[in-house]
Amino acid sequence: MKIAIASGKGGTGKTTLSTNLAMFLGERERVVLVDLDVEEPNSNLFLNGEFLKKEDKMKMIPQWESSTCTHCNHCVEICNFHALIAIANEILVFPNLCHSCYACSELCPTNSLPMEAQKMGELSHFRTQQIDFVEGRLNIGEEQAVSLISQTKKYVEKYFSDDTLKLYDSPPGTSCPVIESIKDADFVILVTEPTPFGLHDLTLAVETTRALKKNFGVVINRYGMGNDDVLSYCEKEAIPVLAKIPHSIEAAKLYSQGKLIYKEIETFKDEMQSIALYLKQFSKERA
Ligand code: SF4
Ligand code: SF4
Repeated sequence: MKIAIASGKGGTGKTTLSTNLAMFLGERERVVLVDLDVEEPNSNLFLNGEFLKKEDKMKMIPQWESSTCTHCNHCVEICNFHALIAIANEILVFPNLCHSCYACSELCPTNSLPMEAQKMGELSHFRTQQIDFVEGRLNIGEEQAVSLISQTKKYVEKYFSDDTLKLYDSPPGTSCPVIESIKDADFVILVTEPTPFGLHDLTLAVETTRALKKNFGVVINRYGMGNDDVLSYCEKEAIPVLAKIPHSIEAAKLYSQGKLIYKEIETFKDEMQSIALYLKQFSKERA
């Protein structure tokens, strides 16, 4: 099974849940945790894994060849991402805006925009005693997360067998990187917090997840602070609440020390168990 862990906004505890749930489940079955929050991956801070391998990840960017260009401007007109501009007698390429769609390269009448590989980031693979851990990490300043997320998922698909439970720690928000992270998932866990901001962003995440026709449930983190509006919303929308993780200063302290919370706080472990049971039941029903 592939399970994406996502949230409408940052700071809800998505990484805390991902790392703790992965290690908890890893005590019983084969698990790989995949950090797809490639702009700022941080799951590795909580997992002391043995380094296995690293791969450079590339994206294809057009390179302008002045000697054959006839300055027809066709490439500038067709690029939907404004990654090309014509200045005087030059075509300038902005690699950070380029989505590697190949349109300009394929449609240039004089083949003056051949595509060339350029490093965009790295993929690292670690192994702990309980789980495998794979991380995609974009180069600083690089903006196109989708391609690296896609390449990281391909690595996981190739390297791990179908009987490995795959947990995708997705980026926050509801934009293209999130959609790339959750589009192949069998189940999506939306992490939120019981605050007006949490509810607002949860509703956006729910709309996105429903648009992708995904099975999903909600985990309410820091339960007990704020109000009950998130719970009422889930009841009204018939969204299953998989766990309510209590608000706790002790948990925040453990997080700040890079420790796994379920190993220290029994109630936190109970909530991991509750999520595990739900996922097991879901897996049985879809089999
Ligand atoms: S489409 Fe090709 S020939 Fe036309 S301006 Fe662009 S690079 Fe030059
Ligand atoms: S490959 Fe696509 S996105 Fe990149 S510059 Fe060409 S047309 Fe624009």
